[in-house]
Amino acid sequence: MSTVETVLGQVDATELGLTLIHEHVRFRDEAVAENWPGRYDEAAEFAAATEAVSAAKGHGVKTIVDPTAMFGGRDVRFMKRVTDATGVNIVPCTGIYSYDFLPHYFENRDADMIAAHFVDDIERGVQGTEMKAAFLKCAADAAGVTANVEKVHRACARASLQTGAPVMAHSMPAAATGPRQVDIFLEEGVAPEKIQIAHCGDSDDVEYIQALIDRGVYVGLDRYGLEMYRPIGGRNAIAAELLRRGHAERVVISQDYCATIDWFPAEAIPQIEASGGIRNWSMTLIFEEVIPWLREQGVMDDAVFDTVFVRNPARWLGR
Ligand SMILES: [Zn+2]
Repeated sequence: MSTVETVLGQVDATELGLTLIHEHVRFRDEAVAENWPGRYDEAAEFAAATEAVSAAKGHGVKTIVDPTAMFGGRDVRFMKRVTDATGVNIVPCTGIYSYDFLPHYFENRDADMIAAHFVDDIERGVQGTEMKAAFLKCAADAAGVTANVEKVHRACARASLQTGAPVMAHSMPAAATGPRQVDIFLEEGVAPEKIQIAHCGDSDDVEYIQALIDRGVYVGLDRYGLEMYRPIGGRNAIAAELLRRGHAERVVISQDYCATIDWFPAEAIPQIEASGGIRNWSMTLIFEEVIPWLREQGVMDDAVFDTVFVRNPARWLGR
């Protein structure tokens, strides 16, 4: 029997049910929020989070995997409040979301020492709570796999080997980071089926994604609604082709929605929407526009749906 850590404690992997593999109930910089708390409206953030999660619940979602790590304002108590208010379980992570920068604290510690921090979160609990991290998160973006990025990847891999927890890596197909990220995890000895390369759906090159799948890892088609990286039509074409090729067992689909995000001033978000940078970005977009389209194309019957949204999350997370 394999199990998964959640904000409600350990559950059997089969209890996760319909799962969104990549959504954020809140995304903000913890250093800014700590220093200028008056710039944030906690009640509004909570209302936005519960509204988004409740809407997903309306489509049958039972569990949300939230890969908010360090530098994303990870807060398991906030996640637990959202779960208590909505009845939707949340799966938290440990790790560092950085494209290169590390605080001196981690700059001057090696991968094994960083891994020990992650292992504590997985085995003892996060942020002084009993809630444990279920998986590891790291990132590579436009700067590529820099020395710091590589160190965090190796730390995640080593914590994964010590605990059995899977790894999710933010990737940037435009900088072709995915293959190198997989290299590092495999070099460290992580099993391919415990690796998920996020944001592959930003690619317009199905063979780039195919090459990752060929190495046995999960690929995230997980940014539906973020038109700035790739419009929905292009994302759908790639998703349909991968399913047509029979890769349902390695595909996960989500929206990378952030119920609130502090990257932009509040007034900039409507402008981004007006200019087409985001469109219908939400925790329900895939149920409204993507799954119906994939069903129409004949590439997503009930069995494929169950594989992508129920069995894959349970298999990747379960340990
Ligand atoms: Zn994300």
